[in-house]
Amino acid sequence: MTGSVAGAVAAVRARIASAAERAGRDAGEITLVAVTKYVDLDAVRALIAAGVTDLGENQAQQLRDRAPLFTDVRWHAIGPLQTNKARYVAGHAAAFHALDRVEVAEALSSRRPASSPLPCYVQVNLAGEATKAGVAADGVGPLLAAVADLPGIEVVGLMTMPPLAAAPEDSRRWFRRLAELAGEHGLTGLSMGTTADFEVAVEEGATAVRVGQGLGTVMSGSV
Ligand SMILES: *Cc1c(COP(=O)(O)O)cnc(C)c1O
Repeated sequence: MTGSVAGAVAAVRARIASAAERAGRDAGEITLVAVTKYVDLDAVRALIAAGVTDLGENQAQQLRDRAPLFTDVRWHAIGPLQTNKARYVAGHAAAFHALDRVEVAEALSSRRPASSPLPCYVQVNLAGEATKAGVAADGVGPLLAAVADLPGIEVVGLMTMPPLAAAPEDSRRWFRRLAELAGEHGLTGLSMGTTADFEVAVEEGATAVRVGQGLGTVMSGSV
C-alpha cells in the first residue's frame, strides 16, 4: 500500500516539475497539498512516509481530529468554514484556503496569536457559480480592506475552484484570471489546481496545488 502511494506521489511531483519547467518556473516554489478528505489514517501515514509535508482537509472537524496525530506536517484547511468552527482551524491549520467572509476572518483572527498570524487565501468564485463558495472578483478588494487590520490573520493570496471541466485546458482561463487578480491586489500566493488540472495551474503560476484523487487517495481500498 505504501509503495503505490509513494509511486503516485512521485508521479504527481514529476508532473508538477515538468509543468514548472515548461513555464520557466522553479518547482520549488510550488507546494503540493495532498488532500486527505477521502481517506483513512493509514493513507495519511503512507503519504507522510512518501515525503508529503503538506496535507489538506476540507472539514474543520476532521482537521481538528487528525492534525494532533501528525504534528510534523503542515495541515491546510481548504474548505468553506463556519464561524463556530473557526477555533479548529485557528488552532491546527498552517494555512486557510477558503476565506470569503469578514466574519470568518474575525473569528479566526480572535483565536490566533498576533505573533503567528494564520496565512489565508481569499477564495474567489470567478464564474459566479451558485453552488460554490467564494467572493466575486470585484469583492476581493473590499474583503481585503475589511480584514487588513486583523492581527491574527494574514492574506497571502487567492484561491479558486474553477467550473467542472471536460478537459484540463478549460481551466486555464480561470487560473489566468486568478493570477491577474492577485497581481492587481499585490498578492503572490495562488492556490489553484486539483487532480483534474494541476499542471495547467502550475503553468499559470500556482504556488499551491491541492491534489486528492490524483494521489490515489480516493478510498482507502485504492491506495
Ligand atoms: C477535495 C478538494 C480538492 C482535491 O480534489 P481532487 O479532485 O481530489 O484532486 C481540492 N480543493 C478542495 C477545496 C477540495 O475540497
